[in-house]
Amino acid sequence: MAKVKVRTGKRFRAKRAENHYDTIVIGSGIGGLANAAFLSLLGKKVCVLEQHYTAGGYTHAYEREGYEWDVGVHYIGEVHKPSTLRRVFDVISEGRLDWAAMDDEYDRVVIGDHQYSFVAGRDNFAKMLIENFPAEEKVIYKYIELIREVSRYTPKFFAGQGMHPWLASAYNKVRPFIVPKVFFQTTREVLENLTQNQQLISVLTGQWGNYGQAPADASFLMHALIAKHYLAGGAYPVGGASAIARSIIPTIQKSGGEVFTYADVDEILIKNNRAYGVRMADGHELTADNIVSNAGFYNTVKKLLPQDVQNRLGVDDWCQQVQRSSAHLCVYAGFKGTAEELGLTSTNLWLYPSGDHEGNLAAYKADPKAEFPLVYISFPSSKDPDWDKRFPGKSTVEIVTPAKMDWFKEWEDSQWQKRGESYEALKADFTERLLEKLYERHPQLRGKLDFCELSTPLSTNWYQKNSAGEMLALDHFVDRFKKPFLHPAMPVKGLYMTGSDVMTAGVGGALMGGLMTTCTMQGRKAGAVMKLLKNYQEEVSRDIEAEQHTIPQT
Ligand SMILES: Cc1cc2nc3c(=O)[nH]c(=O)nc-3n(C[C@H](O)[C@H](O)[C@H](O)COP(=O)(O)OP(=O)(O)OC[C@H]3O[C@@H](n4cnc5c(N)ncnc54)[C@H](O)[C@@H]3O)c2cc1C
Repeated sequence: MAKVKVRTGKRFRAKRAENHYDTIVIGSGIGGLANAAFLSLLGKKVCVLEQHYTAGGYTHAYEREGYEWDVGVHYIGEVHKPSTLRRVFDVISEGRLDWAAMDDEYDRVVIGDHQYSFVAGRDNFAKMLIENFPAEEKVIYKYIELIREVSRYTPKFFAGQGMHPWLASAYNKVRPFIVPKVFFQTTREVLENLTQNQQLISVLTGQWGNYGQAPADASFLMHALIAKHYLAGGAYPVGGASAIARSIIPTIQKSGGEVFTYADVDEILIKNNRAYGVRMADGHELTADNIVSNAGFYNTVKKLLPQDVQNRLGVDDWCQQVQRSSAHLCVYAGFKGTAEELGLTSTNLWLYPSGDHEGNLAAYKADPKAEFPLVYISFPSSKDPDWDKRFPGKSTVEIVTPAKMDWFKEWEDSQWQKRGESYEALKADFTERLLEKLYERHPQLRGKLDFCELSTPLSTNWYQKNSAGEMLALDHFVDRFKKPFLHPAMPVKGLYMTGSDVMTAGVGGALMGGLMTTCTMQGRKAGAVMKLLKNYQEEVSRDIEAEQHTIPQT
């Protein structure tokens, strides 16, 4: 079998690009790719410009020493079943992207000495909780109903993101009367209204790493979206994370567009309050009717907008009203032996020293030598059914924990592999402590490590062009969802934002950001986008029906 290339996209060269496109998308995260693919399916010529050496943003994968790891796709919910998310992926990849369901036990939450298995399916989830908290049965069902209710109202909550900004602003004023009030409360507030059982709250929030904030700070909306997202289990892209970009890029190329890598954009060109192009870091200029930024809110407003436009819009004031999400550390480890030989499954591990998520996080942020408040361990090679064909006799593990950019600030201006002994010593210490967490759960792996390296917030800054190593773009605090400047249409004609910052973090959230931005760009013709999804649904139903007709009746 020919080995697929993990790098996706085409290296930018001025002569490979056209001078003018219908739309230029800055950044090739899943939000940018989705937006570009939808526009391409509507017949537009779209140019995606990605500064990194490969496309995909956080959905990219990388190779080192004969191993491959994903960086921001550990598992995705809802895509292994018929769902809106799956339909969107199918449409933009034109059916080229396959998903593999993980083991039924997709997450295992370990709090101190207690272990809780999150098994796919609402009933299994309820059963596990009731077995552990029999006196809380009513609360547990109420909680499950509440996250389903949030999910039902979510399209109404985010409807303004697909509207013209002035309509969105009017709509968002009446929104509190349309959606339940839990949409405007923190996770802890809502859960403590349901129960005073702190251990149960700790278990229910045992996936808080997926939204990057402890329950007292995270909006309940974000918590509920994540909880619901994984309720039916997790899935992984067949062929690894890079399969996501690889499957979407041909859709963009078919309409004459391209996804360029090594394509660092320096500035969005604006004249008379209209965006008309971009200037690349090498000085090259490209023009387009519309410019979309998938580079994240901070990058867009503080780095890409010209200074006079920043001053006129008052972006410094906007930046005061939001905050960046936490940075992280990740050990990327490679082991000799297949998953079977090493006794590894696809179940993710969430390890907590105790149920006091807020206290543990605060103690660690004050002192990095304190206990890790959360260690998340993923086994990517066990999730990809294609892995053994691509990397026979090998397995991979990723170990993630939060981090502060401040701990690494002094090396910010130094170069990779030339940061000096004290940096390497700090990394070695974190690596050893994180590997120890893995060995505590999987002692059979001791002595079998073949390769490992640690990424720090400096790595994230480098491959994402972030400034604070933030892993989930903006934080998901309650008021974030009321900010009018986090709308896909920016107050400059022809300029849009997309990806997680216009919806929520997570591959699914950013993907829906791509869809909402396309709807906003289409304005009155937004129905055409919905038609793409509807037509696809009808096509699938026809195929299923045809298949059923060909099944011999017994
Ligand atoms: C460690 C980790 C684990 C995660 N695990 C999961 C998971 O299991 N499941 C899940 O659903 N989500 C997960 N996520 C979150 C998810 O990956 C992201 O929220 C999502 O992919 C963000 O997509 P986006 O479209 O907002 O853009 P991003 O992926 O943030 O992409 C932005 C792109 O813009 C580019 N860019 C920036 N500036 C410029 C410029 N000037 N010129 C050109 N290009 C530029 C960047 O290089 C980048 O490629 C994880 C994230 C991390 C960090």
